[in-house]
Amino acid sequence: MDLYSGYINRLIEELSHLPGIGSKSAQRLAFYLINLPKERVQRFTNAVTEARENVKYCERCFTLTDQTICPVCANARRDTGTIMVVENPRDLAAYEKTGKYEGVYHVLHGAISPMLGIGPGDIKLKELMARLQKDVREVIIATNSSLEGETTAMYISKLIKPTGIRVTRIASGVPVGGDLEYIDEVTLLRALEGRTEI
Ligand code: ZN
Repeated sequence: MDLYSGYINRLIEELSHLPGIGSKSAQRLAFYLINLPKERVQRFTNAVTEARENVKYCERCFTLTDQTICPVCANARRDTGTIMVVENPRDLAAYEKTGKYEGVYHVLHGAISPMLGIGPGDIKLKELMARLQKDVREVIIATNSSLEGETTAMYISKLIKPTGIRVTRIASGVPVGGDLEYIDEVTLLRALEGRTEI
């Protein structure tokens, strides 16, 4: 990497840490950015900095929001008796796009993975349990159908069962290991409607 200046190397290095970006893509992006007009670069870096500064977790469902309570939780028409548990905010967005789900969400920010050393304490599970005291009738577990997603679903089910709250799992029409965000709306709705008690 000594072919380029230290500044360029640093930029390539930072970009190569982004998910899905290998060293070739990192070089391509670095040169693209360097060749942009300065004000475009400023706009880009401002967007990154301001998003990082202002975006936080919703105090109820833990999705990412720039408000204390996210728009879904703040909507009085949503049914707070039904909580759908998802792995990340992108999954929440996928279900919101269907426009058919009327309950609220809980975002775990990950899934249990003994292989990666991610335990129940590393995701927002305690926070989910703390929400189950009031009028909750059903918890729909919509974690991915990967090994981690299934492990997480079983773990949550065992935790909640003793409370008497109904626990359901979305139907496995969802491709194995598939990220929920890549699945079309019809499949998502079918998975939701075909959910079964676990
Ligand atoms: Zn929320």
